[in-house]
Amino acid sequence: MSTDEGEQKAYPTIDYQVSMPLSGGYDVIVVGGGVSGVAASIAAARMGRKTLLVEQFGSLGGTGTNGLVNAFNPFSDGVRTLIGGIGLEVVQRAYERGILAPHVTPETWKTGYMKWIPFQNEGMKVLLDEMVQEAGVELRFFTTMIDVLMDGRRIDGLILHGREGLSAVRGRYFVDCTGDAHLTALAGFPYEVGDEQGRTMPPTLCSHLINIDADAYLAFRESGAWEETLERALEEGAFTVWDKHVPGVILMGENYGFLNAGHVFGVVGLSSEDLTRGMIRGRQLAQEFVAFYRKYVPGFEKVVHMSTAPVLGIRESRRIVGEYILSIDDFLARRSFPDEIGRYNNPIDIHIMSPDPEAYEAYASMYEKRYRLPPGESYGIPYRSLIPKGSQNLLVAGRCISTDRLVQGSTRVMPCCFVTGHAAGAAAALCQEEEAPPLALDAGLLRQTLRGQGAYIP
Ligand SMILES: Cc1cc2nc3c(=O)[nH]c(=O)nc-3n(C[C@H](O)[C@H](O)[C@H](O)COP(=O)(O)OP(=O)(O)OC[C@H]3O[C@@H](n4cnc5c(N)ncnc54)[C@H](O)[C@@H]3O)c2cc1C
Repeated sequence: MSTDEGEQKAYPTIDYQVSMPLSGGYDVIVVGGGVSGVAASIAAARMGRKTLLVEQFGSLGGTGTNGLVNAFNPFSDGVRTLIGGIGLEVVQRAYERGILAPHVTPETWKTGYMKWIPFQNEGMKVLLDEMVQEAGVELRFFTTMIDVLMDGRRIDGLILHGREGLSAVRGRYFVDCTGDAHLTALAGFPYEVGDEQGRTMPPTLCSHLINIDADAYLAFRESGAWEETLERALEEGAFTVWDKHVPGVILMGENYGFLNAGHVFGVVGLSSEDLTRGMIRGRQLAQEFVAFYRKYVPGFEKVVHMSTAPVLGIRESRRIVGEYILSIDDFLARRSFPDEIGRYNNPIDIHIMSPDPEAYEAYASMYEKRYRLPPGESYGIPYRSLIPKGSQNLLVAGRCISTDRLVQGSTRVMPCCFVTGHAAGAAAALCQEEEAPPLALDAGLLRQTLRGQGAYIP
């Protein structure tokens, strides 16, 4: 579905004018403090640019922390580490301070094939605070970007809303790391939402669980009894909706983990109305899944449901239409690009869109067979997929970069968001130096710079 269809409701309108303080002088302004925004702002600030990072909540990490999605997808293709640079630094520092799950070792991110990297939520928030501050990023929490000031196709500044009220801020280059391509949409650049009908993957509200007997749980997982147990629970009416697609509990420590289960079907996540419905339904589903684990899954007899996340986990919303749209053909061909800023290999992971067995079978064959690259193989990510079509001073990173819908099912996960964030931040810094629009930047210079900063670019 294309720009704006179905998103506007016909309310009456009023005009409202207000004066507000204006600040400026920023070389690079990054909107959104998820993993892509963290990487983008650190990259720009380390290159000496005066960098502002704007985040609507009070901690960094985005879906990874505030959404309680406390595990990075694999960093390696099974042979080599694909994720270098700032993403790798985060994992190495997290390991050194003991906030990764006990089973994670350097081999996990060096050569682990399909090996997740769970982390402790609080420790990750603190680490990201530290890294952003060390880099000299000016960080503004509890500040929401609500509008843009345009000068033709150039973004001149942003309208922000914080505890002080409204303010305006000027900058020279901008990086949209909002996950939802919020800045790109406000600036009037093209984007798409979901499939041809504008339907997206359902969100999930994740939870923290403690008092798990990890040994019993792991023995149960290894016994191969999961599928039959879930089917029995479905038959016995443990759930209000049929949903066999359960990523489940990932352990972050000896007796605790996070629960990723309960698709909220029919929620797109681009309106407060949708998000409200999603939060309420997500909390109901979390209750059902915790009850299911307690009754049916060994190791969860005494489980305590600590909390659901304060924000709904959005898997998919807008994708920008960029100077290059990375396609499933590129993925299948393991394509390399002259302007490649990194490589990744995550299988195409598009969650079921409706609660029925056919949708689940289609998903399983897609994720487990059809769109899974074998060890040692990966696809390239071109710099052009970070540039909205026609952009003069805007770059995009993270979940909403320019891909077709299938490939977004791979690039949306956090390791790849680190890669695109790092590249977008470095590109913004170089553009500022060269006084060039993003598309005019010498991709060779960007690649050389990123390699020097530890990125994997063969
Ligand atoms: C349920 C679920 C499970 C997942 N499981 C995994 C997994 O196991 N491993 C993995 O690697 N990935 C997983 N993912 C995917 C991954 O977590 C996300 O796609 C990724 O974290 C997105 O990062 P991002 O930086 O692009 O955006 P986000 O993490 O969404 O960050 C965007 C940030 O921008 C801020 N923001 C947005 N709009 C504004 C605004 N207007 N003004 C100011 N701030 C704003 C938000 O508050 C947020 O902090 C999962 C996702 C979901 C939903």
